[in-house]
Amino acid sequence: MLLLDGKLASQAIKSELKQQIINLKNDRKPHLAAILVGNDGASETYVASKVKSCEEIGFQSTLIRLPHSASEVELLQKIDNCNHNPEIDGILVQLPLPKHINEQKIIEAIDPSKDVDGFHPVSVGRLVQGLSTFIPATPYGIMLMLEHFNIETKGKHAVVIGRSNIVGRPMSILLSSNVSKGNCTVTICHSATKNLKEICLQADIIVAALGRPLFVTADMVKEGAVVIDVGITRIEDASAKKGYRIKGDVDFENVSAKASAITPVPGGVGLMTIAGLLKNTMQAYLNRTQQG
Ligand code: NAD
Repeated sequence: MLLLDGKLASQAIKSELKQQIINLKNDRKPHLAAILVGNDGASETYVASKVKSCEEIGFQSTLIRLPHSASEVELLQKIDNCNHNPEIDGILVQLPLPKHINEQKIIEAIDPSKDVDGFHPVSVGRLVQGLSTFIPATPYGIMLMLEHFNIETKGKHAVVIGRSNIVGRPMSILLSSNVSKGNCTVTICHSATKNLKEICLQADIIVAALGRPLFVTADMVKEGAVVIDVGITRIEDASAKKGYRIKGDVDFENVSAKASAITPVPGGVGLMTIAGLLKNTMQAYLNRTQQG
C-alpha cells in the first residue's frame, strides 16, 4: 500500500514555488489577502496555516480580521478594497461565514482575476469549459497529489462522494476532464444516492468528501482501489492535547489493508489544499504582472 503523504507532495510544490520566487526579477512578490470573519476555531487554524505557508515560501500575505458581528456591507467593503489594491494578487474569504452574511454574494464580489479559491461563478464556468482558470484549492490539491505520486487515472472509474461546490462537484469535473490525471469515468454520489456501497465497490478511485467521520468502510472498497479522504471532522476527545482529534471520512485502519494507495487524515488532502491555493496565488500574480 502506498501512503499518499500530503506532507511530501506539498513540500515538493512549496520548494518549486520558493525557487520560482527566488528567480523573480520583480521586487514585488505574490501577495495573498485572507479575510477571516469571527473566530471559529477550525477557520482560525486553516487561515493561520495558509498565512504561515505564504511566509515560508516568500509570498507576502495580509490577514484581515472582522468580528463575528461584522455586517455584509462591511465585508463587501473590505473585498472591494482588496479588488482595487494593485499590490494584492489573490483574495480568499475563509468559509463558512456567519449566518447573517450571504456567502454567494460574497463569493461573487471577489474580482475573478483575484479569485484564488476558485469559487466565483466565472472560475467555475471556465473550469467546466476546460479553460484556464483558478481551480478550487482542494480538488486542485488532489490533482497535484495524483500527479506527484503518478497515480494512473485514464479510463478508471472514479466515484466521488459529495457534490459541494468547493469539493465534490469540481472534483468530478476535473477527474472527467481530458487533462493530466483526468480522463476517468466519473460517478458522483450524494445524500440521495441509493446503493452507495455497490457503486463504491465498482470504483478504482474513491474520493470521499461528505464530512461524516469513518463513513467509508473496508466492505465498500474494492481490493487495490485508490482512496482519497477529504473529510475533516473534529471529534471531542478529552485525552487529546487539544481536546479533540481530527477524523477523516474513511476508516483508514481497515481500508488501508485493501487500498493500493490512500491518503491519511491529517497529513493528506488538507496540506495539498494549501499547495493548490499557493499555486493559484502564484498564477494570479503572473497573470497580473505579465499584463502590467
Ligand atoms: P458539504 O457539507 O458542503 O457537502 C457534503 C456532501 O456530502 C453533500 O453534497 C451531501 O450530498 C453529501 N453527503 C452527505 N451525507 C451523505 C451520505 N450519507 N451519502 C452520500 N453523500 C452524502 O461538505 P464539503 O464542504 O464538501 O466538505 C466535505 C468534507 O471535507 C468536510 O469534512 C470538510 O471539513 C472537508 N473539507 C476538507 C478540506 C481539506 O482541505 N481537506 C477542504 C474542504 C472541505
